[in-house]
Amino acid sequence: MDGCIFCKIASGEIPSNTIYEDDDFRVILDLGPATKGHALVLPKAHYADLFEIPEETLAGAAAVGKKVAATMKKTLGCDGLNLVQNNGEAAGQTVMHFHLHVIPRYKNDGQHILWKPTSPTPEELVAIRDEILKG
Ligand code: AMP
Ligand code: ZN
Repeated sequence: MDGCIFCKIASGEIPSNTIYEDDDFRVILDLGPATKGHALVLPKAHYADLFEIPEETLAGAAAVGKKVAATMKKTLGCDGLNLVQNNGEAAGQTVMHFHLHVIPRYKNDGQHILWKPTSPTPEELVAIRDEILKG
């Protein structure tokens, strides 16, 4: 897509620190990493987000993320790993080309990727379930 920076990076038009590439995906190091090794799985085709990406491409991105995660566990010796995928500004998406974050985690790395839990009542949970399911 014209003007999309991740399209240009995925195609190789803009150089990146690539750690994996195949016909459909490129995995690059994030320029503003949360931790050492933070990478982004980019499909080479343009999809804005989870709602646009076809299921088989999503499955492919997950498989590539798994491969890269296994490599990082071995080579970086991370203690854990988050897969994160943001959709929409409200969820923190800043680049509107689908990407899967692969974030190696280290004990005491000082990052805050997990959420703050809330405490709905059992009745509120039932109401939320019903709202989701009402179609
Ligand atoms: P998100 O907030 O989920 O849309 O994530 C966008 C990510 O892309 C952020 O972690 C940025 O640091 C990263 N980013 C933005 N531009 C570039 C770039 N040119 N090369 C590598 N990473 C980038
Ligand atoms: Zn794009």
